[in-house]
Amino acid sequence: MPADAPLALAPALDLALPPEAVALTPRGPALPPETVAPTPRGPALPPEAVALTAVAPVAPAREPVPLDAPLSPFTRARIERTCAEALRGAGALGTLPTPLEALAPVAGVRERLRVEKLPARDDIRDELRERLLGAVWFEQRALFLDERQSLPRRRFTEAHELVHLLCPWHEAVLRLDTAAELFGELSRGIEAEANFGAGQLIFQGGTFAAAARAHERSLRTPFALAAEYGASRHAAAHHYVESHGEPLALLVAGRWPAADGCLPVFRGVESASFAQRFGRLAPLLGGARLAARPGAGAPLAEAIDAARRCSDPVAAELWLPDRGARLRRLHAEVVNNRHCHLVLVAELPRRPARAASARAAAA
Ligand SMILES: [Zn+2]
Repeated sequence: MPADAPLALAPALDLALPPEAVALTPRGPALPPETVAPTPRGPALPPEAVALTAVAPVAPAREPVPLDAPLSPFTRARIERTCAEALRGAGALGTLPTPLEALAPVAGVRERLRVEKLPARDDIRDELRERLLGAVWFEQRALFLDERQSLPRRRFTEAHELVHLLCPWHEAVLRLDTAAELFGELSRGIEAEANFGAGQLIFQGGTFAAAARAHERSLRTPFALAAEYGASRHAAAHHYVESHGEPLALLVAGRWPAADGCLPVFRGVESASFAQRFGRLAPLLGGARLAARPGAGAPLAEAIDAARRCSDPVAAELWLPDRGARLRRLHAEVVNNRHCHLVLVAELPRRPARAASARAAAA
């Protein structure tokens, strides 16, 4: 394929693990043959008509990825609608985990291939190629997947690629992008959209949120529900916060502190009501660096330390100013999943004060 053939590549900026985590994650054993979808060798790919989107955490080394801008309500609604129609069209509504293979024809997928079958190109560097989790070739309606990912992660990648095919405007935008502009604003927006849509397909619109509402406001809730949806705990936590009706926020930070004792913050997501009340979480906690060394201005340091020795969420208490500059007490949880830290911040439902209820009882 000539280097000047039209090409669009974009990295995953949402649920893909931070670069350090990906580099450290050992590839799992190959899946047994019967669980791998057949990947027939397609016809030779003509070089002149390629538009690819690659799910590849290719952030510049050591630089934390800036926080994704939240999608506009208009875009969210548009993608929710597109995904709901696709689920309905595939007869997949209500079937868990979502049968992604039923969605492929709805998205017009003609071929599903291993990512190794991606045509060679000068400007897909080896470093990028090794990190490709998936790709879409629009003209051939071909979907490429790295089959060595864990099943939940592969499902998310597949759903992400399906959303690129389901959203007609993605092809147009990705065509404008080039490998040299992996972090161009346009492609970042498109990637955030594909990740949001993947959540809509995997978690079936509001189905997950409705199930989660009945349970405690804690990371334990999405973790407990993840398997039923064929999702990773990380993806479930992200969707849990994104779709929650109450004030909740999540930060994803690196696993290892830097020399300054801080964890790099990779991304954050807030529920609509959290954003309305507090704004974005990361700036309230120091921006792109999360203090992990005990001391002033490090309200989560102890929990971060304890999370190293514990697989359950470690609770902490946090005071954060709301938009009116009034300090509010919030519940926090930290999980170290051996790839990164997940930090949940939640406003818990008010409970009647014990003294008040005692007074009421005495009266
Ligand atoms: Zn993508």
